Amino acid sequence: MMLGGMQDWKLRVTALIDHAARESGTREIVSRWADGSESRTNWAGVRRDALRMTQALRALGIKPGERIATLAMNHHRHLISWYGAVGAGGILHTINPRLFDDQLEYIANHAEDRVLLFDRQWTAIVERMKPRCPTIEHYICFDSDQPAPHFEDWIAPFDGETEWADGDERDPCMLCYTSGTTGNPKGVLYEHRSTMLHAMACMTAPVFGLDTRTVMMPIVPMFHAASWGTPWAGAAAGAKFVYSAVNDPAVLCDLFEREKVTAAAGVPTVWLGVLQHLERTGKPIPPSLSQVVCGGSAMPRAMVERFMKEGIRVAHAWGMTETSPIGTTGAETANWDELTFDEQVTIKAMQGRPPFGVELRCVDLGDADKVLPRDGKTAGVLQVRGPWVVKRYFKAEHDATNAEGWFDTGDVAVIHPDGTLQLTDRTKDVIKSGGEWISSVELENAAIGHSAVAEAAAIGVFHPKWDERPLLIVVKKPGADVDEAELRRYLGEHVAKWWVPDEIAFVDELPHTGTGKISKKDLRDTFRDYRWRA
Ligand code: ADP
Repeated sequence: MMLGGMQDWKLRVTALIDHAARESGTREIVSRWADGSESRTNWAGVRRDALRMTQALRALGIKPGERIATLAMNHHRHLISWYGAVGAGGILHTINPRLFDDQLEYIANHAEDRVLLFDRQWTAIVERMKPRCPTIEHYICFDSDQPAPHFEDWIAPFDGETEWADGDERDPCMLCYTSGTTGNPKGVLYEHRSTMLHAMACMTAPVFGLDTRTVMMPIVPMFHAASWGTPWAGAAAGAKFVYSAVNDPAVLCDLFEREKVTAAAGVPTVWLGVLQHLERTGKPIPPSLSQVVCGGSAMPRAMVERFMKEGIRVAHAWGMTETSPIGTTGAETANWDELTFDEQVTIKAMQGRPPFGVELRCVDLGDADKVLPRDGKTAGVLQVRGPWVVKRYFKAEHDATNAEGWFDTGDVAVIHPDGTLQLTDRTKDVIKSGGEWISSVELENAAIGHSAVAEAAAIGVFHPKWDERPLLIVVKKPGADVDEAELRRYLGEHVAKWWVPDEIAFVDELPHTGTGKISKKDLRDTFRDYRWRA
């Protein structure tokens, strides 16, 4: 066997921060804290402090492969801790502070976390976790000296004169749990190699399009699906980062303007807040902002249109914790310039195409062996595979993939002939009426198009004749009004007649999950015994 002639340069994530410090060391990382104060460091500073944290972890006796958890919002110390944890050969475990106590307890114990770094604002959660999470021996607070050692004091005795832990590129480096809307949360164990390949894809134009001129604000929390890979990709690109520990639209808009943010990524709810704030204050979208990435759940068409009219390059990002998370992004298609504005909006409102490294296919809802055509019409279960897609959940006994390596996403989608993915539902949310499928997502999107609707959710409710019929649950915009008959008439213009919900319930608020998505599970519980009027 002939060997290749190239170097054995390991794809380990510490190479990212080495590169950032060396090539873009003075590029800033700005943090805006909850109390309004700001801190500034740069990539060289992040690397130095991460090396000091590596020494501090070793002094605590933390060994490679052990889990170091964080419970924190977005700020530079949280970023330092990512590189510090992996630098010591540890496995970074980001925990979502919005989870319920039982879920927090479950995942901290399942992960066997040994250290927890947290923000002062989550002290109450930490106090509740302490007696319930016996594996956690060390608590370190990011922004206060009470009641735990302060992060800066903890790393202060160390000089950063050390080496990163060495190892294999297939070693694990990060653990993220799915939000667990059904059953217990499941842990996805990312590897150095998978994270590195994902970071390289994230930098490319169809994904985040990062380079050293980029000023990026990852609004997506660092505890949510690895902040969509931005902490790793940003270092590879040497971009400037602007972090805010609060998601208040006024604060975000102020930062966009003052720090000349060019690219930002966040869930639709955040963008809705930002756009409403701009409308209220009569201010334009800050001129520096040229790229908006939106994911986690579907972006309403009206939002896509609004951004595009402002000349912003907007894109959907579809993915899940199991896909690191980038699976597809809504980059422009090859025939972009020949399309009308309306056609362009239609494409951008879909979930987009996979970057190199992700393969997609849809299989029949009832027969997983039947691969569906990419005809833009036939909806089926979406499957994925690639080097940054999960193979086996943490501590699971069996692979999560089938024999050919395909992972079943639980999403229902169609794939268009040009490869564009369009999600139509979750397998557990589709509504089956008289033996035919109704897409809850399409009903919701249609409802949100009405000017008086702020939020909408469609669920299937038992019906004696049709098995299930869709019930639409709607929150009206403040000060706006619409009645059931008017909304049904409006929906009739946008979806098939037999899809139009027979009844609509108006509520003040919809239940949301820990990651800010509408909780269909809670809605189904609430409306389980719903009685149709007719
Ligand atoms: P979370 O912690 O956000 O719930 P998950 O990994 O559980 O993370 O969520 C993944 C799911 O979110 C996907 O399977 C899909 O249903 C939904 N999702 C993610 N991005 C999009 C998007 N751009 N459009 C529509 N749905 C999306």
